[in-house]
Amino acid sequence: MKNSPTFIDSHAHLFYPDFKDDIDEVIQRALDAGVKYFVVPGTNVETSRQAIALAERYQSVYACVGFHPLDMADADEASLKEIEKLSEHKKVVAIGEIGLDYYYDTTPKDKQQKMYGAQIEIAIRRNLPIVVHTRDSMDDAVGVVEELIAQNEYWRSQQATSSSRFLAPKGVFHCYSGDTQTAWRLFKLGFLVSYPGIVTFKNSPAAETLKSIGYDHVMLETDSPYLTPAPHRGKRNEPVHIPEIGKRIAEICGATLEDVARTTTYNAQRLFTIDTLGAPVFTYALGRSLYINLTIRCNADCVFCDRKGEAVVKGHNLKITREPTVDEVIEEINDPKLYDEIVFCGYGEPTIRFDAVKEIGAWVKANGGKVRLNTDGHGSLINKRNIAPELHGIVDSVSISLNSVDPQQYGELMRIDGEKFHAAMVDFAREAKKHVPEVVMSVVGMNEVDLEKTKKFTEDVLGVKYRVRPYF
Ligand code: SF4
Ligand SMILES: [Zn+2]
Repeated sequence: MKNSPTFIDSHAHLFYPDFKDDIDEVIQRALDAGVKYFVVPGTNVETSRQAIALAERYQSVYACVGFHPLDMADADEASLKEIEKLSEHKKVVAIGEIGLDYYYDTTPKDKQQKMYGAQIEIAIRRNLPIVVHTRDSMDDAVGVVEELIAQNEYWRSQQATSSSRFLAPKGVFHCYSGDTQTAWRLFKLGFLVSYPGIVTFKNSPAAETLKSIGYDHVMLETDSPYLTPAPHRGKRNEPVHIPEIGKRIAEICGATLEDVARTTTYNAQRLFTIDTLGAPVFTYALGRSLYINLTIRCNADCVFCDRKGEAVVKGHNLKITREPTVDEVIEEINDPKLYDEIVFCGYGEPTIRFDAVKEIGAWVKANGGKVRLNTDGHGSLINKRNIAPELHGIVDSVSISLNSVDPQQYGELMRIDGEKFHAAMVDFAREAKKHVPEVVMSVVGMNEVDLEKTKKFTEDVLGVKYRVRPYF
């Protein structure tokens, strides 16, 4: 029923002599395993040229150009100009790999720092992301990026004009070895992190970090020919191992391989502007649930919602240009028993199409499935009648966005009349409790929202369940 997952190896040095005898087979083996694209970062002028040569030879290969901090013997003003020139090639997708490596002392720190800054300036001029290598240098490497974003008109303007709540992606910290806190610092700057086979090693600290940051801002990489994943350690690494790394990350994060593959592939495509996003979907699977994207219309305009931005959820494109019919949705669900639950969700308010919700919900129930409705709780106002009794028997669980207990803050967050809609939402929660087996109030975990208060209100006043949803 489902297509098998596809992947991108976001970091593989396929120009190394290790691959000179069998590069065709290496690439074919990986393609056969579902790895669609390979991003090959150079480490100096010569290897950057080799990366470009591979990109010219293979449709599935893209190149990055730059000086690696440990490969800077020839780096000077003139060679930097050469890198900038090479970056104009149409298959160059980033400046990299650049960075700081304080572990070895082959290149003096001040030269590394100078080159790192200069290459970021090239990326900014060329409107390209950066691929960053760090070793014992995380704080400095992140600090430079933070400083440049604060100073740089271009990066800042991208932030301000982006219609999406997600910042335009600016780069990746590859083979990420930092902690959870640093990862969040990077995500907030519009950076991703990528993980190679080290996640498969026993007692890998990377696994601990991944568990807490999740995989939403992550890409997969092999860093071939290095860092061969278990159980192949000791042998040459190659991109065919990407699915194994994805599988391990899925295990660590308690997710399905499909969700990890789709999300990480989307992240790489977006960062490197490779390929285009898939067509918009009416239904989409996440974990063991199937979500229904009934509409992208909404009566609210929440500050934290990406409805008017890219509207992508874990690699699923939800930006529909027309709404599905009831029959189309039913046909796509096919057999509700194949899923834990069928969820009305998407970037829009499902009760705007309340008749469709009822029809599809009734069909799912009649065919042995479970139904959840995710809503802003304004359905009764939208439909000008109390809709809660009509949910009886067709919805098993309602999840209502509580957002805030303070009507004024509620109005500011959702950009609507706070007093009127907050009262309507609370009313709806009380009514839903009478007709639906489970009611959950959800809150997006943002600094400005008083989570203690919202929890207390949910449990003590409304007497229903409470859930905090992560902001990122
Ligand atoms: S209510 Fe939901 S769909 Fe509507 S703007 Fe807010 S978060 Fe987005
Ligand atoms: Zn590398």
